[in-house]
Amino acid sequence: MALNISESDIAKIVQNVIDAMPKDAAKKVAKPSVRDWDSTQYKGRKLIGIYDDMNEAIIAANAGYKAIRDMSVEQREKIITEIRRLTREEAPMMAQLGVTETGMGRVDHKTAKHILVADKTPGTEDIVASAKTGDNGLTLIEMAPFGVVGAITPSTNPSETVICNSIGMIAAGNGVVFNPHPHAIATSNYAVDLVNRACRLGGGPDVLVCSMVKPTMETAKIMQTSPLIRLLVCTGGPGVVRAVLSSGKKAIGAGAGNPPVIVDDTADIIKAGKDIIDGCTFDNNLPCIAEKEVFAFSNIADQLIGEMLKNGAYKITAEQAAQLNKIVLVEKTTKDGRTVKVVNRDCVGRDAAVLLQKIGVHVGPEVRCIICEADFNHDFVQHELMMPILPIVRVSNIDEAIDLAVKAEHGNRHTAHMHSKNIDNLSRFAKAIETTIFVKNAPSYAGIGFGGEGHTTFTIAGPTGEGITSARSFTRQRRCVMADSFRII
Ligand code: NAD
Repeated sequence: MALNISESDIAKIVQNVIDAMPKDAAKKVAKPSVRDWDSTQYKGRKLIGIYDDMNEAIIAANAGYKAIRDMSVEQREKIITEIRRLTREEAPMMAQLGVTETGMGRVDHKTAKHILVADKTPGTEDIVASAKTGDNGLTLIEMAPFGVVGAITPSTNPSETVICNSIGMIAAGNGVVFNPHPHAIATSNYAVDLVNRACRLGGGPDVLVCSMVKPTMETAKIMQTSPLIRLLVCTGGPGVVRAVLSSGKKAIGAGAGNPPVIVDDTADIIKAGKDIIDGCTFDNNLPCIAEKEVFAFSNIADQLIGEMLKNGAYKITAEQAAQLNKIVLVEKTTKDGRTVKVVNRDCVGRDAAVLLQKIGVHVGPEVRCIICEADFNHDFVQHELMMPILPIVRVSNIDEAIDLAVKAEHGNRHTAHMHSKNIDNLSRFAKAIETTIFVKNAPSYAGIGFGGEGHTTFTIAGPTGEGITSARSFTRQRRCVMADSFRII
C-alpha cells in the first residue's frame, strides 16, 4: 500500500533544518584559546556554580532548590525564558567550545543543536495536574519536584545536554548537580554557568545548578549515595547507565544505541540517499539517534549508493574498510580477562576527510561520509562507532532486513529508521524493533524535533522507559484527597 508524502512536506522539513543552522556560525566565533578558559573560568570571569567538593555542590544545589520552591511557576518560567535567550545568543560560542575541547563534531551542527534545545525543550507548560471526581469527592494529582537531581552527562553533546536537562529539571522545580564527562568538563561547566547567569537575570537564586572543577568516578559515587540527591539522571554509554541503575536510587537511564536503517524497494531512493547521509553526518554522527548501518534491498542498493555518492559520500573498498577497521576500533582487555574491541576515542566524531587520511586517502571537506558494503558480521555494523562511517548490507527481502536490523540494534530499543512507502513493511519493522524512536522517511534528527513534530531532548531514556524526556519526567506524583466534597455538579 502506498504512503503519500508530498514534495512540499519534504521541502518544508529540509528548510526547517537549514533555517535553524546559522550559516556563518563557524566564522563568527574565534577559536577559544585553552589559556583563556578552563573548568572554573572563561576569560578571567569565574564560572558560577562550580565546586571543588561534591558535597558542597550538593548543598548549594539544595539551597537553590529551596529558593525556587518559594517562587511561583511564572517566576520559574522567567528563569527558563532567560536560559533560552542566552542559549540562542551563545550557541555558536558553546559549539566552538565543544569542538575545541573534545575534538569531536562540527561547529555549525553543534550551533543548530543548541538552538534546537533553546526552542524546543518544554518548560513549565509540560507539568500538568489532573483531577478525579466522583461520589466520594475530589482527588487532585500534582507533579512535584524530587528536590536535587544528580545528572551525569556525555562528551558527545556536552553543553546541549546540560542546558536541555536544566530547562526540564528547573521547570519541574528541582535543583541540579552535574557530574559531567571529564573530557568535556570546561564546555559543560560553561553551560552550568550560563544557566546560573540566566537564573540571576530571571530573579532566581544565585546558584541553582552546580558542577565540579574535576568530576571523577569518586565524585559520581558521592553524588549517587548522598541522601540529598533524590533522583539520578544518566546520559551516556552502557557502563554508566548500569552503574546508576544499580545505585539503589530512583534513576533515569539514557543509554547507547546503534540505529539501523532499512531501505526497501518502494522507497523514494533519491530522497532516502540524501536523508540518510544528512542524518548520519549530523555533528559527525555523534548523536545517539544517528544512522549507524543500512540494510538495503539488493534491487535498489546500487541506486541508493549512487544517490549517497551524489550527497557527499565516498565509497571505500573492502580492503580499505579492513584497514580503517584496525584504526577506528582498538582491542581492550576486560576485568575478567576477555579481549574486546572498543571504539578509538581519537576517531569518534572526526570529519570523514580526517578518517580517510588515516588510510592514505586525501579528499576535501565536500566528502562528509565514508560508505562501504559490508556483511552483517562486520565490525562497522555491530559497533556503535559515532563517526561518519556507514556500512551498507544488501538484503533480499523484508524478512531478512527486519531480522538483521533487530539483531544489529542489540536490544538497546533506542532508535531505528526506515525508508519505504509500504505501510505493512513500516509497521512490521516498527513492531519488531521496539525502539523509543522510529523515524519514517526522514533524516534521524527528525526524531528529536528537527524537521519532525514534537519536542526535543538530548536524554532519550529507553532502558527506564521515560522515552523522550521532558520536565514531567523529573517529577513525582502527589495526591491530595478531599473526601465527599468539592464537586461542583
Ligand atoms: P560515556 O559513557 O563515556 O560517559 C558518560 C558519563 O558517564 C561521563 O560523564 C562519564 O564520566 C561517566 N561515567 C562513565 N562510567 C561511569 C561510572 N561507572 N560511574 C559514574 N560515572 C561514569 O559517554 P560518552 O562516550 O561521552 O557518550 C557516548 C555514549 O552515550 C554513546 O553510547 C551514546 O549512544 C550514549 N548517549 C546516549 C544518549 C541518550 O539520550 N540515550 C545521549 C547521548 C549519548
